[in-house]
Amino acid sequence: MAKPNTPQRVFDVVIAGGGYVGMSLSLALKTADREMSVAVIDPKPMSILDKDPRASAIAAAASRLLDQLGIWEGIYSSAQPVNEMIVTDSRLRDVVRPVFLTFDGEVTDGEPFAHMVPNGVMLPALYEKAAALGVDFIAPDSATTFKSSPDDVSITLSNGESVTAKLLVAADGVRSRLRDLAGIKTVHWDYGQSGIVTTVRHERPHGGRAEEHFLPAGPFAVLPLAGNRSSLVWTEKTLDAERLVRGDEFTFEIELERRFGHHLGKVELDGARHAYPLGLRLARDFVKHRFALVGDAAHGIHPIAGQGLNLGFKDIAALAEVLVEARRLGQDLGTLDVLERYEKWRRFDTFQMGVVTDVLNRLFSNDLSVVRAVRDFGLGLVDRMPSLKSRFISEAAGLAGPTPRLLLGEAI
Ligand SMILES: Cc1cc2nc3c(=O)[nH]c(=O)nc-3n(C[C@H](O)[C@H](O)[C@H](O)COP(=O)(O)OP(=O)(O)OC[C@H]3O[C@@H](n4cnc5c(N)ncnc54)[C@H](O)[C@@H]3O)c2cc1C
Repeated sequence: MAKPNTPQRVFDVVIAGGGYVGMSLSLALKTADREMSVAVIDPKPMSILDKDPRASAIAAAASRLLDQLGIWEGIYSSAQPVNEMIVTDSRLRDVVRPVFLTFDGEVTDGEPFAHMVPNGVMLPALYEKAAALGVDFIAPDSATTFKSSPDDVSITLSNGESVTAKLLVAADGVRSRLRDLAGIKTVHWDYGQSGIVTTVRHERPHGGRAEEHFLPAGPFAVLPLAGNRSSLVWTEKTLDAERLVRGDEFTFEIELERRFGHHLGKVELDGARHAYPLGLRLARDFVKHRFALVGDAAHGIHPIAGQGLNLGFKDIAALAEVLVEARRLGQDLGTLDVLERYEKWRRFDTFQMGVVTDVLNRLFSNDLSVVRAVRDFGLGLVDRMPSLKSRFISEAAGLAGPTPRLLLGEAI
């Protein structure tokens, strides 16, 4: 309930969740249409915006989007181009790790298929630009509930006040409270795995090479960062991951070295260790009357292909395009007529990526000799098929299928 005598604030679009996806949506809308009133609600105080220890593989399409949103130039100096990727498949005790698959990838001349960007650089840049464009921040606060009527949606905040909008977009992450309140069901399972994330410093340069080592507990990814540093996404069974993250640094570094090897010289920790539980969660619907889901609120997937955030960027590029066009045609932004265009555009792609990451994770997170022989044969086959490899590069770059304009580097 709104507090009595408090004038209600009214917006065109309210976004619940000021993470990477919610903030990018606010920028996409305001960049295309300065007259649109957009508010972002988030419980995070500004002081922790740069504390995310992860780095993300930002696909070429996503860097084009960030460029259109006016923040790529600012974060580019912290970004590391990924020039090459190798895939190995071995047991931990194997002395040699044969390379089964290699990609060296530019999507256009001089444009690598991905860059590694520290998350702690991206979020402050998004907030700064959004503030400059006039996005309203309702923070630190959170959306606790909402009620849709034929003409608008009223959102209640944790401080008891409420705001009104034509459309509420839930960008509140994989455990989305608003998705549950909207009655949208999900398909969900846990992998019993966690992704250990940390940064390491090594003696020798990585040359922009990303490495995905398939080990029996799951993928061990070494992703190049600016300087002689790499970001690790190291999948283990959840109990083992917790033990490694909470245990002493010495034991951690020994386990790290067993997986990392010595090809980049001496390796040492250069950041805190964190473990993120991994699962698959796909929303059955993306929209309701005056309500839409974006980012992890719509789909949480395994980081095996580094595509979770990239899918979120695709969502917001598609939703912004649909909403801006609807407004230009004088349509009401929150109606199902408008929102279903977004859902049709995004649902299949998301479902497909969820299935692909799920199958890859199951196929590679085991030590069965027969499965290993079949998958290694498959990897070797793909490696000898340039047309298939270029299709994979195009997928990894986020440029396969019907692509929203912002991801092509065009204004809406
Ligand atoms: C180990 C790991 C590695 C990864 N690596 C990659 C990668 O390389 N490339 C890639 O593309 N993706 C990667 N991902 C996935 C990526 O991190 C996520 O897809 C991305 O963070 C999702 O962003 P989001 O904005 O949708 O959600 P979040 O980042 O979870 O943000 C949700 C926001 O909502 C706010 N919020 C929560 N509840 C409320 C509420 N009630 N009201 C208002 N606000 C609320 C939260 O404070 C938060 O700010 C990785 C994930 C993991 C776990």
